[in-house]
Amino acid sequence: MPAPTLPPAPTPATTSSALATAQAQLASAIEILGYDAGMHAVLATPRREMNVAIPLRRDDGSIQVLSGYRVQHNISRGPGKGGLRYSAGVDLDEVRALAMWMTWKCAIVDVPYGGAKGGVTIDPRTYSAAELERVTRRYTSEIMPMIGPERDIMAPDIGTDERVMAWVMDTYSVNIGYTIPAVTTGKPLAVGGSLGRATATSRGVVHTAAAALADAGTSLAEVTAAVQGFGKVGSHAVRFLAEAGARVVAVSDEHGGVHAPDGLDVAALQRHVQEQGTVAGFPGGEPIDNAGLLALDVDVLIPAAVEGVLDAEAAGRVKARWVVEGANGPTTPEGDRVLAERGVVVVPDILANAGGVVVSYFEWVQANQAYWWTAREIEERLEQRMTTAYGEVAALARAESVSLRDAALVIGVRRVAEAHLIRGLYP
Ligand code: GLU
Repeated sequence: MPAPTLPPAPTPATTSSALATAQAQLASAIEILGYDAGMHAVLATPRREMNVAIPLRRDDGSIQVLSGYRVQHNISRGPGKGGLRYSAGVDLDEVRALAMWMTWKCAIVDVPYGGAKGGVTIDPRTYSAAELERVTRRYTSEIMPMIGPERDIMAPDIGTDERVMAWVMDTYSVNIGYTIPAVTTGKPLAVGGSLGRATATSRGVVHTAAAALADAGTSLAEVTAAVQGFGKVGSHAVRFLAEAGARVVAVSDEHGGVHAPDGLDVAALQRHVQEQGTVAGFPGGEPIDNAGLLALDVDVLIPAAVEGVLDAEAAGRVKARWVVEGANGPTTPEGDRVLAERGVVVVPDILANAGGVVVSYFEWVQANQAYWWTAREIEERLEQRMTTAYGEVAALARAESVSLRDAALVIGVRRVAEAHLIRGLYP
């Protein structure tokens, strides 16, 4: 998390369209699959939603009431699964979109979960740790009837971290009466977390980027890359890209960015972020803003921040040949069309960033068995799952002459629809 001296992050103006993007993507998959209006309606509608008020006593004694949400979009293939987002701009529609993306994502990497998401309207950077703990515990108490290791399993997302997951797990466990580590994933190792979970999303992004490059007869060692976002996904992705030999020429976060055409010194950059809480002001390059980063002449562009950044206009300025989506929903349907017209290969979010939920699944399996795996076992199994999922998506895209996004959606939506059809409609 950035240092407390920084101003609060600006609220992204684009999040309200996330649900429209998710619904348009589903409609596209339904059309390709030829499903009827009834199946479309089932898959378009969240199965369960909770909207809760969270009264918070601030450190100064005043009371503030925050809004919280938990949405289970689909639970046909297993318990709901998905992150908890703390952000000033989060609303029910954004959580609905994120929950729907989790459903397809879990199906694509074939983990036995449905899709869910949670959110609280709070900018965590402007609250003390004690306040965040009280918010988290009250939110968890309010949504208790929805969650549990067999019902709905939470994980970190924007604005939350392993500490928040420990508070959720503790609140749930204290209320039930015994310790239940499998109610959250992305926990600290000391309370049943998994090795490799913190870096899993980033590793998965880099595995799928490598696979997409291999399909075009090239490799990470031969390309330049720019990464938007330096949080849980972007910061580790930069490191793994550099380790694989890619030249990372630009990074940015909500406070600014830095560009070095000859390549950034990634280790020095990580030290700068540890000290300053932002990539902005890093002396090893020239300043660049977020719009400038998206338009850089690089081979691989990795949006790893928030939704909706690649709309039609921004997509029209993209010069990269590959866009690998570390964030959820960074490209709007119009942006997608523009990128396709320009021949840009988009490795979609529901495939590219699925490494996080894959290792969440490993964490849940380990917690349920009370037996923990080695870092190597986790990394190998993650790579195998990501490469298999990429291979299935790319094969379908080739066979049907559709984009990787449509192919990924078709695989995810079809697996969920099949589960729904086999189970039958009750009553
Ligand atoms: N929040 C992450 C995502 O959007 C992880 C979800 C999880 O592990 O459950 O994929």
